[in-house]
Amino acid sequence: MLNLDAFKTSLTLPSPLIPFRPDWEGASKVSLFVKRDDAIHPVISGNKWRKLSHALTSPLPKAVVSFGGGFSNHLHALGFICYQLGISFTAIIRGDYRAAPTPMISDLMKWNTHIEYVDRITYRQRSDSAFLDKLKQRLPDAIIIPEGGSQAQALQGMKDMVDEIEIDFDFIVAPVASGATLAGIISALNKRNSTAGTVHKAIGIGVLKGEGYLEGLVEQFLPAFQYQTDWHIKHSYHFGGYAKAPNELQTFCRDFNNTFGFDIEPVYSGKAFWAVKDMLARGMFEEGSRIIVLHTGGLQGAR
Ligand SMILES: *Cc1c(COP(=O)(O)O)cnc(C)c1O
Repeated sequence: MLNLDAFKTSLTLPSPLIPFRPDWEGASKVSLFVKRDDAIHPVISGNKWRKLSHALTSPLPKAVVSFGGGFSNHLHALGFICYQLGISFTAIIRGDYRAAPTPMISDLMKWNTHIEYVDRITYRQRSDSAFLDKLKQRLPDAIIIPEGGSQAQALQGMKDMVDEIEIDFDFIVAPVASGATLAGIISALNKRNSTAGTVHKAIGIGVLKGEGYLEGLVEQFLPAFQYQTDWHIKHSYHFGGYAKAPNELQTFCRDFNNTFGFDIEPVYSGKAFWAVKDMLARGMFEEGSRIIVLHTGGLQGAR
């Protein structure tokens, strides 16, 4: 068991920012960098640490409860962190994997997580106040962290990521699911844009079908005042939906992993890098653009 400071020293922060020079069509006209949040920790998926970092502060809670699916990077990261810090963790999981635990769930069991499997109907109530009230009565010592770790505090953690970037740049590209990661980037860039000469833009890559819906999720995290940051979400790179990975995407990820010095997976980072490759080929970035691709991690989910 570690205390919070000792635990934090086990993380690679700031995460590396590396130049990226693929031989892709159009890539030589721009400067590409990868912000390696996947390298923060071998077990903890990068953006999940960012989103949790401001929820788990001193004094630490005795217990935590959260929600996710059977492959959730969030539950995996949180389960490991709680295990390391000696916090009792309850994971409410959609579906029943008792007969065939996923690698993610096997890890949770190894880390002494209390697992509760619920059906889809129950799971759908996960943010209803009546459901949460009952949960609080049942687990009075626990703080409740929403699915994906996506809550207001998550934005502050994403700001820490943006603040680590010391070079000047034009674009940050990041995958989008619940929207908190992109919302955090947008709000951090808003502050940066108001002090810097350069206008930094954010491009989200939707990893699920959700034109309009994903924008709404992002906006719901942003305070009501006017945002200056120029941002949008691309909706043509979801490959059919969340966790859908047709052969061409799997081949792309495999080739990528054999070529470059780090790995991607098909659910999040594979779609983001595919999108960057496609946007470069289509000439969607002006010549000379400086583009940072955020590698959010997620490799555990690909097991
Ligand atoms: C959860 C996750 C995302 C999506 O982040 P949101 O804040 O939910 O939009 C992206 N990449 C990885 C690896 C993730 O685990």
